[in-house]
Amino acid sequence: MTAKRIDGKATAADLRAAVALEVDELEEKHRFTPGLAVVLVGEDPASQVYVGAKHKATLEVGMKSFEHRLPADTSEAKLLDLVQQLNSRDDVDGILVQLPLPKHVDATRILDAIDPKKDVDGFHALNAGLLAAGRAALVPCTPVGAMRLIRQTLPHIAGLHAVIVGRSNIVGKPMAQLLLAADCTVTIAHSKTRGLPAIVRQADIVVAAVGRPEMIRGDWIKPGATVIDVGINRLPGADGSKGRLVGDVAFAEAEKVAGAITPVPGGVGPMTIACLLANTIQAAKARRGLS
Ligand code: NDP
Repeated sequence: MTAKRIDGKATAADLRAAVALEVDELEEKHRFTPGLAVVLVGEDPASQVYVGAKHKATLEVGMKSFEHRLPADTSEAKLLDLVQQLNSRDDVDGILVQLPLPKHVDATRILDAIDPKKDVDGFHALNAGLLAAGRAALVPCTPVGAMRLIRQTLPHIAGLHAVIVGRSNIVGKPMAQLLLAADCTVTIAHSKTRGLPAIVRQADIVVAAVGRPEMIRGDWIKPGATVIDVGINRLPGADGSKGRLVGDVAFAEAEKVAGAITPVPGGVGPMTIACLLANTIQAAKARRGLS
């Protein structure tokens, strides 16, 4: 048996097209263009790539994009000041501060300063609490994207056992909340979990969000399970060159056992930016009382 490959690239393209239509509709009917502000502090190469990709995708769907690139030695006070300015601007519907921030800046303080109504990354404690309470919230983009892929693969997930490996605030915990809200039975595993392979073997849905290349092996997967690989790891290349990207799941092994699986790249990754755009639309409408 070979698993069906879940095509995150195609699903993300469909979602971006739907967002572009919504932008047109908001302009026509409500006379405004949603805007997303992205703040980057420092020159981290991966962050620069992400911020560039977000800027391009925002413009492509017809939204306004406001980029703020600040030097690595920007003070926390200055960054807080910028966040406050963006909070008060009417043309900014979403604010994203790219992580990681330099060490001299308290990231929690910065994230907590973002207006929760504009918190399109869903990292503010208020949005995390609303999600946990089963109420309307802005939800982190990567788990939302993973959830969309799960729903399109498995239309009836109530009662299924989902095992999430990883408990970060960005991926693992919100993923667990979304699956719980969808009536799955949810197990969250982490670095102190004992007997991880046996736990993963019970899963109808496996979500891997660990950050360890190919840690989850094919013989950990229950035959027919749906495997969502959030991990993005770059293997070291020969002679110091850039190696290939792999997930947290040993794809070639798992593909022989699973019912459906996301590839890396081309699975969850492309969904993250598409869901950021969708979150910006959600924030723009909610701020204006539109359904
Ligand atoms: P974190 O490092 O914040 O969290 C990793 C989690 O994995 C922790 O909960 C940790 O447990 C757990 N873990 C580590 N080692 C083991 C182990 N041996 N066995 C079981 N659990 C373990 O990572 P993120 O959640 O931010 O990211 C996870 C992965 O997803 C990374 O590869 C990252 O690059 C990728 N990612 C992809 C995105 C996308 O757009 N597709 C977006 C965000 C992340 P503990 O809590 O006990 O330390």
